[in-house]
This record gives sequence, structure tokens and C-alpha cells, in this order.
Amino acid sequence: MKMMRLDRILGNMGYGSRKDLKKLIRHGAVKVDGEVVKKSSININPYESVIEINGEKVEYREYIYIMMNKPQNVISATYDNKHKTVIDLLEEKYLVFNPFPMGRLDIDTEGLLIITNDGKLSHEILSPKKHIPKTYYAHVKGIVDKEDIEAFKDGIILDDGYKTLPSQLIIKESGNISIVELTIYEGKFHQVKRMFKQRQKEVKYLKRIAMGELKIDEKLNLGDYRELTDEELNVLK
Ligand code: URA
Repeated sequence: MKMMRLDRILGNMGYGSRKDLKKLIRHGAVKVDGEVVKKSSININPYESVIEINGEKVEYREYIYIMMNKPQNVISATYDNKHKTVIDLLEEKYLVFNPFPMGRLDIDTEGLLIITNDGKLSHEILSPKKHIPKTYYAHVKGIVDKEDIEAFKDGIILDDGYKTLPSQLIIKESGNISIVELTIYEGKFHQVKRMFKQRQKEVKYLKRIAMGELKIDEKLNLGDYRELTDEELNVLK
């Protein structure tokens, strides 16, 4: 890990502007490896040195990885002039990292959404070449049957002529409103809804429950979130 200026490290963690930090450091509020330092420009390794501000340890990190159970009526974007975004749901302490949602869920779709500032990982996971499976739980109007399973397995030709990759449909309950789980390997716009539409069926409720091996934490209520554990992050990588 490269050495970094002390004020940059603290600035990245949201402890203030360069000017504020200079003052803070000059006043002796910051210790590095147990010693008070007075120069904001010193270079240190933030992962190896112990930094304290007013006796409180600073846990340096560059990236954050958050799992959210996205609720409806919230947009998967960093900014929207009409609706709340998933970023608006985060505590302020995360905003300094400039987080963004990894991919999109429709406004009326709930469930697993990763929020991060790791552009490289996001790019890799969303890469169309990677075919990371995404599993959705859905309520679908109309009887879903074996023919649908077969059609989804073969690939569905969408309204724009694109043929989807084979996907796996599991029927949990079939009836006026059927309950299903669908795993797809790409992420076209409104893909699940459009796939069912081609089968003359309408998705009434949609929730993403897994991305790759990463499953939603069912303990998270709608709108709640938590950081990924190291284990979960490894599964995602
Ligand atoms: N497919 C959809 O139709 N909507 C989503 O939000 C995700 C997948």
C-alpha cells in the first residue's frame, strides 16, 4: 500500500477539509503510532500506522460495500429530482465515500442491492460477459406452468428481438397469482417483467434475492442495510 499524506487520509474518511485538518493536527489532536504529530503533510501508511483523533482510533479504508434491502418508491441512483434515492437512505458517515448502487433495480422492485464506491468491482460484476446469476422472487398474474419453464430454459425473445440466455424458473405456487423464482444471467432493462410479458403474464411483485452466491439477509427490513462481511465480499469477488 502506498504512503499517503495524513490530511488526505483523514479527509478521505470525512474528518474535514484540508484546512480544518491542518488546524486540528497543529493543535495536537492527532496521534500516529502513539505520538502526537503536528504536520498534516507527513506521509504514512494508513493500513499499518495507528491513527487516533482525540484518542479515537481511525479505521482507514478506501472502499465500502453495503447490502441494502431496497424498498419500493426509491430509485437506484445517486441523484433524482423527483424521488428519494437509495443513497438518501444511507447514514451520513457513508456519504464521504461517494457510494453508488451496483446496477439498478426498478423503482417498484425490492430486495438485494449492493452499494459501494468500488468502481472496478462494480464494473466486473455488471460486465455482460461475466453472466453473474441474479435470482428474483416474483408474484406473477396468471398460471405459470411447465411450458413457461421450458420457454425460459430455451431463451425468451424480448420485444426488441433480443433472445435471452437460458434462465431457470422454479414454480413455488401456481394459481391466479403464481409465486416463482427466476434466475437470469444478464441484466437487460426490465428484463424479468419483459420475459413474463412475452409469455402473456404480468409481474405484480418483484424482489431480488441473490446475486451470484450472495443472498439477501432476510433479517434486513425494507430500506435497511448493513456492510457486507468479509466472507460475503469474497463470495461476490
Ligand atoms: N427485472 C426487472 O424487470 N426489474 C428489475 O428491477 C430487475 C430485473
